Amino acid sequence: MGLIVQKFGGTSVSDRERIGQVARRVADTVRQGYEVVVVVSAMGHETDRLMDLAQSITAHPNQRELDVLLSTGEQVSIALVAMALHELGLKAVSLTGVQVGIVTESNHNQARILNISTQRLRQHLDQGEVVVVAGFQGVSLHHPLEVTTLGRGGSDTTAVALAAALGALKCEIYTDVAGVYTTDPRIVPSASLLPEITSEEMLELASLGAQVLHPRAVEIAKNYGVAVIVRCNWANFPGTRVIFGTPRLSGTLKDMEIARPVDRVEVDPCQAKIALLRVPDRPGVAQKLFQALADERIDIDLIIQSIHSEASNDIAFTVQQGFLPSAAEIAHRVGQQLGCSEVTLDADIAKISLVGVGVRSRAGVAAQMFATLARLGVNIQMISTSEIKLSCVIGRSWAAAVKAALEEAFGLPPSGDVPPAPPLSLKAVRGVALDRDQARIAVQGIPDRPGMAAKLLERLAQGGIPVDMIIQSQRAGTEQDIALTVPRSQAVSAQTVLNTAARDLGCREVTLAEHVVKVSAVGEGMIGTPGIAACMFAALAYADINIQMISTSDIKVSCVVNEAHGGTALQVVHAAFDLQSPASALLQPLL
Ligand code: ADP
Ligand code: ASP
Ligand code: MG
Repeated sequence: MGLIVQKFGGTSVSDRERIGQVARRVADTVRQGYEVVVVVSAMGHETDRLMDLAQSITAHPNQRELDVLLSTGEQVSIALVAMALHELGLKAVSLTGVQVGIVTESNHNQARILNISTQRLRQHLDQGEVVVVAGFQGVSLHHPLEVTTLGRGGSDTTAVALAAALGALKCEIYTDVAGVYTTDPRIVPSASLLPEITSEEMLELASLGAQVLHPRAVEIAKNYGVAVIVRCNWANFPGTRVIFGTPRLSGTLKDMEIARPVDRVEVDPCQAKIALLRVPDRPGVAQKLFQALADERIDIDLIIQSIHSEASNDIAFTVQQGFLPSAAEIAHRVGQQLGCSEVTLDADIAKISLVGVGVRSRAGVAAQMFATLARLGVNIQMISTSEIKLSCVIGRSWAAAVKAALEEAFGLPPSGDVPPAPPLSLKAVRGVALDRDQARIAVQGIPDRPGMAAKLLERLAQGGIPVDMIIQSQRAGTEQDIALTVPRSQAVSAQTVLNTAARDLGCREVTLAEHVVKVSAVGEGMIGTPGIAACMFAALAYADINIQMISTSDIKVSCVVNEAHGGTALQVVHAAFDLQSPASALLQPLL
């Protein structure tokens, strides 16, 4: 009948009873006539326990030894699950990542999967055995052979990668909630369960903090066309189906997680930019501006906002050119009410974007884009990042040359200019997410020369530090500021790298704020729907939450706020988009 990959997270294998429950579910699937490959995580919080153990010995554990240690967690659970299957009379064998041949890069703790050898798996399956594979681990073939791990949450990635390599009918991710919800049901109990979600939305939500499915797993599913279903093990709810379009890379499983980060270059040549400079830094400012624009049904494309020097904000946004006169009139009027010092307009801009699954998370893609622009002497006016799109606003006259240079730099065939049509009839906002793993770094007093953003980003890429939001001040003059967010665990390394870069490049100072979180709304239906950002800003303003940074892409709006407001921010934004479900209380998470 075909093969199914079933992945069980830590909670599902946390004790004897739950392991028995897993075994019964697998046995049911086998009895229905399917071949089954099971992927399991370490029991309960075992990986955390092992991490703490390492930290108790040394504050800086050797990365190789950490992988040797952490990979033991999954090794325990595969053996126990195989034994539980034997108890039910099934033939089953457990295999570690090394035994399967899950070949990864050699960088410990964060290795990406290169390919999976299916020979041994097939042999066992052909003998009628269930194969129980350890999630989260692999082997690097650089001599000598080394055990590697994929990064926290990596068992999802193992499962989807195995499903791709084996051509499975589907990959079922069993977890401690009933599926993917409109937001984390542990923080917002009224969250509703989504019967389906597009892979773009899932990718954004996952990379913006929705832990339920690891973004790298979504990336593989989208690239190789793996049908993924997220469900709970403790009841027979149908769960959430992740839906996707035509797979990009099916057939070629070589370099699985590192193949072709960029799909295409898109140009939108008809944009105009409006910037409000030195807007006071207080709650409700963004709401006033964007509500006034939404009232006139003006569709906003990119929005960026960040505090810059003198503790005031710059807010910049883009609209289609036809909206410029009415948007400019509103910006002047509201800007005056807010006490901003200046409103600037630019009718001659284009938005140029790199599109591809995981463009943001691949170290070096942003740096290479900025370096290509710097080489041509092009000034970047705005930057917007999302998991699938990296966009720069530049002068329109540069658009054709930049597109050609980027296609060459990323080895892409030339493509047309027309961005794909927005999907029809989707709910504008599908879900909201909270990312607590954020820190905000600002580089102030950057000499105003083209290529400075590229140089700073290049240094971060060389240090292996992924950058999320990147916001430049909009003030013309002698100095610029750039504010960035990075994962909190990397904040201190990012600060060290930027301090050195700042000294070399003549920037004034680097400041770090570690107590921030990011709340985001995601939905493919926001393309072409005015008022989404305004609604989110209004929700935050009414809760008296100050927005420190704003960044948007076509399918998400993200705001950085003080850590203390994280939970409230998530709740009010979730409620503002009317995502609650009274029925969801029936599907309480498994604690
Ligand atoms: P597992 O151990 O099964 O891999 P995880 O802890 O990694 O499970 O992921 C499941 C958790 O993800 C849930 O318990 C929930 O708190 C969290 N979560 C965050 N956002 C969402 C969301 N939008 N939908 C469902 N769960 C979410
Ligand atoms: N056990 C690993 C972790 O806790 C991998 C996983 O559960 O996905 O991160
Ligand atoms: Mg997980």
